[in-house]
Amino acid sequence: MRDACDVAVVGAGPGGSAAAHYLATRGLGVLLLDRAEFPRDKTCGDGLTPRAVGVLEDMGLLSDLSRAGREIHGVEIRAPDGFAIGTALPRRPGGGAPMLVVPRLVLDDIVRERAVRAGARFQSGVLVTGIERARSGVVVRGHKGGCALEIRARMAVVATGAAVPLLVRLGVLRRTPRMMLAARAYFEGIRDLSDRIQIRFDHVPLPGYGWVFPFSSAGANIGAGFFPPARSTTRPRLNPKAVFDRFVGGRTLRGLVDGGRRIGPIKGYPLRVDFPGAPASGEGVLLVGEAAGLVNPLTGEGIDYALRSRQTMRAARCCLPATAAAGSIRSTSVCCAPGSSDFLRSAGVCGTRRLTLSC
Ligand SMILES: Cc1cc2nc3c(=O)[nH]c(=O)nc-3n(C[C@H](O)[C@H](O)[C@H](O)COP(=O)(O)OP(=O)(O)OC[C@H]3O[C@@H](n4cnc5c(N)ncnc54)[C@H](O)[C@@H]3O)c2cc1C
Repeated sequence: MRDACDVAVVGAGPGGSAAAHYLATRGLGVLLLDRAEFPRDKTCGDGLTPRAVGVLEDMGLLSDLSRAGREIHGVEIRAPDGFAIGTALPRRPGGGAPMLVVPRLVLDDIVRERAVRAGARFQSGVLVTGIERARSGVVVRGHKGGCALEIRARMAVVATGAAVPLLVRLGVLRRTPRMMLAARAYFEGIRDLSDRIQIRFDHVPLPGYGWVFPFSSAGANIGAGFFPPARSTTRPRLNPKAVFDRFVGGRTLRGLVDGGRRIGPIKGYPLRVDFPGAPASGEGVLLVGEAAGLVNPLTGEGIDYALRSRQTMRAARCCLPATAAAGSIRSTSVCCAPGSSDFLRSAGVCGTRRLTLSC
């Protein structure tokens, strides 16, 4: 099967779908591809920070998302020794809630549908296996079911999240980077949930963190994440399920969860937090979101950086009209890398904090 477009976007998580939306809004022909059938779940804490909420508002999605999840007005942080501190978060300009918690099964489909309404075409069930340079741009190769697929595009955006096989095959990454690991489950029937999220450092291996993110008045996404020790250390190997069990079984959290029940399985997934050295582009491709390692290692937030893909749109505008040469992407994307200055500012803080936690 053959197809053609201006920009092929690989991966329809928040990063890929937001990029597809903004590119399509500017009149480019966009083909958005994902190996999964939608709606699909993504293992996550489902927390949407003020930055994420800002982009979702810009995309016109806030009222749908507020109905689908829970508005959050504050945050509580609990230290390893149990000491807790909390604060209200400032409301958004216009009075809206600063944060939301929306299950990814719903969020990702709403953002993907927005891209389609903006004019992007979407194909599910497409596993992309390679992207090659061609005279007029790139050729994206993959398959859907048993059928081989070949898509000619002027450039490609890769938004494949923490799944690195495609990036390794493209030569963008030499090997799988060291990643955080995390596991979460949904709970219902929890009594004392407030409109604050909890970020907790008690009963988790450090560096690491746990969270309680309410998605409804009595339902919460609860999970824990950690940096696995380097292979060479003599510390025992940890697995995400064991870390989750220890966190949920901890004295103070057990008190909160008692009386509630887990709905659905405990699911684990890695997080890439290697943004300081991670490439943001390859031959004819731009990387957005977690494919560029853009996750905050202190809080695990990656949706907001993935959504803030308007830089991709700018890069595409730089590259496309003038030369249409995929080779020019490498140079232009350096100044248009996803997350850009905002991310680097917060990454500077997180990098320091990560070092502190590691000590
Ligand atoms: C347990 C856990 C908790 C987290 N909690 C939070 C949180 O509360 N808040 C927050 O902001 N972030 C959180 N994160 C991070 C967040 O989930 C990710 O950073 C975010 O999903 C990245 O978005 P993305 O669009 O870059 O990639 P993804 O959402 O991972 O989407 C990638 C898409 O690419 C598709 N794909 C992959 N490879 C291919 C291929 N070869 N061909 C075709 N399609 C492909 C996948 O099917 C997928 O749909 C958490 C992560 C984990 C693991």
